[in-house]
Amino acid sequence: MLGQMMHMPLTIGSLIDHAARFHAQGEVVSVETAGGIEHSTWGEVAANAHRLASALRKLGVKEGDRCGTIAWNNRRHLEIYFGVAGGGMVCHTINPRMGPEQMVYVINHAKDQVLFIDATFVAAAGKLKPALKETKHIILMGPRSEEAAEAVPGILFYDEFLETGDASEPFPDLDENAASSLCYTSGTTGDPKGVLYSHRSTVLHSLAGNQPDSINISAKDTVLPVVPMFHVNAWGVPYIAAQTGCKLVLPGPNLDGKSLVKLIEDTETTLALGVPTIWMGLLAALKETGAKIPSLKRTVVGGSALPPSMIPLFAEYGTELIHAWGMTETSPLGSVNQLLQRHTKLSEQEQADIRLGQGRAPFGVDLRIVDEAGNILPHDGAAQGELQVRGHWIVDTYFGKDKSALTMDGWFDTGDVATINDEGFMIIRDRSKDIIKSGGEWISTVTLENISIAHPAIANAAAIAAHHPKWDERPVIVAIKNVDGEVTEEELLAFYKGKVESWQIPDKVIFVDALPIGSTGKVQKNKLREEFGNVLLDAS
Ligand code: ADP
Repeated sequence: MLGQMMHMPLTIGSLIDHAARFHAQGEVVSVETAGGIEHSTWGEVAANAHRLASALRKLGVKEGDRCGTIAWNNRRHLEIYFGVAGGGMVCHTINPRMGPEQMVYVINHAKDQVLFIDATFVAAAGKLKPALKETKHIILMGPRSEEAAEAVPGILFYDEFLETGDASEPFPDLDENAASSLCYTSGTTGDPKGVLYSHRSTVLHSLAGNQPDSINISAKDTVLPVVPMFHVNAWGVPYIAAQTGCKLVLPGPNLDGKSLVKLIEDTETTLALGVPTIWMGLLAALKETGAKIPSLKRTVVGGSALPPSMIPLFAEYGTELIHAWGMTETSPLGSVNQLLQRHTKLSEQEQADIRLGQGRAPFGVDLRIVDEAGNILPHDGAAQGELQVRGHWIVDTYFGKDKSALTMDGWFDTGDVATINDEGFMIIRDRSKDIIKSGGEWISTVTLENISIAHPAIANAAAIAAHHPKWDERPVIVAIKNVDGEVTEEELLAFYKGKVESWQIPDKVIFVDALPIGSTGKVQKNKLREEFGNVLLDAS
């Protein structure tokens, strides 16, 4: 042998141990479920993560066992992320916005031995408990509460439970390929599917996801993940934060615009991350309150397409919008849109046009597009096809399934339709389930929505495929007007002229008071199709 480097397993425990050793004083700010702000440090979080791993082991929870969480973004949830995975167990984050049936399904499917719950969910947990087949312990994330003890007999209390653990107990040695966390897709069609992340995939995702052309968090930042910790591990931010020692702000349960503006001001947040609907709320609150949020330099937006009208609105506040794409199956980072050197010379409008796309894959992710027959399409910015992905943090086999989810040649089919140009910039044109097929031609719902949302009287809009006797499907817009917005159907349709080809202009506009929003903050177009899919047939 000529020589050899050390082999150190890439584990989640090593991230928090690093935080404890090298930035123990770094701040963790947490909005408590009961209200009020709590200040903690990375050193305290790390100590509690060790206490928790030790306490769980004493309770009889074994390596590989799943521990569920139904919780907001807060300090205890952060400790559970690291304590459970550090201890060799699997942290299964559950989306509380799922209906009770789906929650019971995922908890039983995951065979969660322990369930950590925030105070908000005590009553819900009491109701779910009789249906939970494997769950042995429910732990309230807080101090002792007599009320909770009554509602959920046998419930344990996190703060007391921690006392049974030993902060000096090291994490066990783990194989980096061992499972560390579990997240279920929201299951808009059929049962939710579990994606089981490994220590290795998570650490690689946090290293690559934090390159300067990706999320780019440094120790100088104050980072606010508004994206919930139950939504694909808050896009990996907790792991990146532990690695860098940035100040982390966890927003708790109130994600309305006004609460966020106040939190950003109070903590001088420099980077915030979340889905577009969250930023729509924030922008409305800024307008209403006249607040300026000068500290906020960047926001990362993903989960659904970034509405173009948002870019100049944020620019007024001096905030750069960084568009990213991903999914539960991709941990989630699949691409991030950061400008290239040559783009810096372009005008603001030209830069904004580029920012609308979903950007480029970081090292560790490979993207390609294929046609319906599976032929690989060129990266020329024009060819449009099914987006497929492979890489170090992409699912192979769903949790509990025997069969790989991949194509014969080892790629994961995302269900998104995209173009990729010769510089690697990818644009999601639609989801293949949503795209409108009119007389054999495709119309992108994203393009149509962006035009409506850009109209000053429109607050939000969704484009759907409605059945049509002649063209099979035609576009229909379902829109919400701004509080003081006035626009008629004819005026909104006229607004499309010159912006898309005439045959792509929608056939109809339906004004509604609200759009159905799913558990991960996205408009549920399947629900809209159920409700309005026949409007053009009824009319004819
Ligand atoms: P769900 O299917 O439960 O909504 P995910 O949260 O995993 O689950 O969502 C992944 C999907 O969200 C992607 O396949 C894509 O359709 C959509 N998506 C995510 N980010 C973007 C984005 N920046 N632009 C457009 N669509 C996006």
